[in-house]
Amino acid sequence: MMTAGDFTYTGLPARVVFGAGTLAQAAGELSRLGVARALVLTTPAQADHGRALAATLGDRAAGVFSGAAMHTPVDVTQAALARMRELGADGVVALGGGSTIGLGKAIAVRTGAPQLAIPTTYAGSEMTPILGETCAGHKTTRRSLDILPEAVIYDVDLTLGLPVPLSGVSGINAIAHAVEALYAEDRNPIISLLAEQGIAALARALPAIPGAPGDRGARRDALYGAWLCAVCLGSVGMALHHKLCHVLGGTFGLPHAETHTVILPHAVAYNAPAVPEAMARAARALAVPGIDAATGLYELAGAVGARRSLAELGMPEGGLDRAADLAVQNPYWNPRPLERTALRELLERAFTGARPC
Ligand code: NAD
Repeated sequence: MMTAGDFTYTGLPARVVFGAGTLAQAAGELSRLGVARALVLTTPAQADHGRALAATLGDRAAGVFSGAAMHTPVDVTQAALARMRELGADGVVALGGGSTIGLGKAIAVRTGAPQLAIPTTYAGSEMTPILGETCAGHKTTRRSLDILPEAVIYDVDLTLGLPVPLSGVSGINAIAHAVEALYAEDRNPIISLLAEQGIAALARALPAIPGAPGDRGARRDALYGAWLCAVCLGSVGMALHHKLCHVLGGTFGLPHAETHTVILPHAVAYNAPAVPEAMARAARALAVPGIDAATGLYELAGAVGARRSLAELGMPEGGLDRAADLAVQNPYWNPRPLERTALRELLERAFTGARPC
């Protein structure tokens, strides 16, 4: 047991219902929130699930809006707000991944409407007071407690059909939150405990999913781990890894979870010399005796069948210099100083899919 030094810990106010079949508690949760008529939000791909949920909610559902899209475009939010007014809705239920939950947050921060989030991926937006929105191709991020969903239902059953490729990369996206929490500037012993447990649960579960996508035990571990990692993301500051992914997603349109999966081993290898204790904890949680955390994460990406190079995600090789420039602009906290030459090498390795170094 380590002795804790001085620290500040702020707990985020959110109610969580976790289990299998917990979707059945949605009406009760809305009632608890004082919502009489909720607008159910989904992406176009999950519209059927939204309609099925609305049917079970009966009069407590005002209707379904199935236009949620990646990066929370403001015009989609405006369309959803118009639908809310038209239907007289007084709350939202976001059923889906980070894109749908982002739409719920965008509505809540503008209207004060209570939110019930029901995540179906491992991205973790439901536990954060952070909203990223895009308007005319420009992405802005804001942070406020008004953005945090008041209640979250984690239903293991909703993740049984999460496609295998998305399961692996979404799970590693979650692990990235916890790894950076272990070396965050404002890290604290409570969040570090959650981080270690979250990484361990996901590292145990993710390799089992490709061979048995409907395995409830593995899916339960993965969703539990994703929740813990999400709390890490919402509670402490992130660093180089999240900055690189933000640059690559925002500037080159690379897919969110896949980009996290490619970059994480390399960002960890970059920071490792500056944070040996955090790296030891990450490696212990990954349960990779004899190899370091960066290599363990690279192997995990291989074990879930994920693509491990930016080239395979559609990154243009000619964009690597620009990405390195952007990564050192607007300086942000990182445990190791940001050196452009070393970051350019990091990006080169990630581009080709080389092992982290
Ligand atoms: P996503 O929400 O974009 O979902 C990807 C696709 O998978 C969608 O078509 C969706 O309908 C489908 N899908 C989701 N769950 C499914 C399921 N169980 N079965 C079948 N299909 C399913 O992807 P994501 O990775 O969850 O979220 C990424 C977005 O969330 C990004 O825009 C990212 O910036 C944002 N995000 C925000 C935060 C935050 O704190 N603000 C945190 C994490 C992610």
